[in-house]
Amino acid sequence: MGLVFNIQRFSVHDGSGIRTVVFLKGCPLDCLWCHNPEGKSLEPQLMFNPEQCIGCGECAVCPAGAHTVADGVHTFAREKCVRCGKCAAACPTGALKMAGQEMSAGEVMEQVLRDRPFYERSGGGMTLSGGDPCFQHAFSAELLRLAHENRIDTAMETSGFMSPEVLARLAADTDTFLWDFKLYDPELHKKYTGVPLEPILANLAALNEMGKAVILRCPLIPGVNAVPEHVLAAAALSHTYPCIREIHFLPYHRLGIPKEKRLGIAGRYDTEEKPDTASLLALCGEHAACPVQLK
Ligand code: SF4
Ligand code: SF4
Repeated sequence: MGLVFNIQRFSVHDGSGIRTVVFLKGCPLDCLWCHNPEGKSLEPQLMFNPEQCIGCGECAVCPAGAHTVADGVHTFAREKCVRCGKCAAACPTGALKMAGQEMSAGEVMEQVLRDRPFYERSGGGMTLSGGDPCFQHAFSAELLRLAHENRIDTAMETSGFMSPEVLARLAADTDTFLWDFKLYDPELHKKYTGVPLEPILANLAALNEMGKAVILRCPLIPGVNAVPEHVLAAAALSHTYPCIREIHFLPYHRLGIPKEKRLGIAGRYDTEEKPDTASLLALCGEHAACPVQLK
């Protein structure tokens, strides 16, 4: 069994072709700008969106008395919640939702296999994401194995922060890694993500030895890493490790902020500033002749 918080069909941004992306709960990192905050915890979480609430009172089924509605005004006492999910099941508008559902690997695969004809026509497949699939590595390994058993291409989005043993186990059935490179400087990496950079780079070197295909993914966060040093460090990595076929620079977006509010988390990072991605990419003046695709 694993804890899944979303299964997204017809994705075209998470590997080749048309893909089904399975989002797994739990992440070893704590990035300041996280855009999937509902994926961080390895427990189910209740999300509440007051904008969708119509004050119907159905959520009064809560055994902990966390919801009260008086004169059509709903009040939620999150500190009483024990995450049983009963209110979310009763809420008619989707104002209450559980992030995280226990599923077996077979149940997930049943959904993934529904789109097999699309994978076959487009060169797509299944992508594991999160959170970080390495956190529930036994479940991830089983999903990847089942996908290969069914002749489905596999990809995994990961921070790369895992033991060499876990990496070897996951790599056995992963065709492409979408590998995060969040910060070029080890001290800044620790400061903004909570974990050291060195094991991630050692794992990248190991993937190169294994001959695995890697797409390097670099978020560009204004005020943190939307700087020439980060772009040039990513380019340098691609010259060191031929396994890196593409580098994707991902401009910061604000999609995580409303989700943090729905989880009851105070927003930790926000800016309306957009990184100047075109100027940063132009720094790597040789990319017209470079075998690595920059996006
Ligand atoms: S998840 Fe369960 S305990 Fe939490 S508010 Fe809803 S019904 Fe109450
Ligand atoms: S059940 Fe949903 S819509 Fe109704 S009061 Fe509770 S949160 Fe609001």
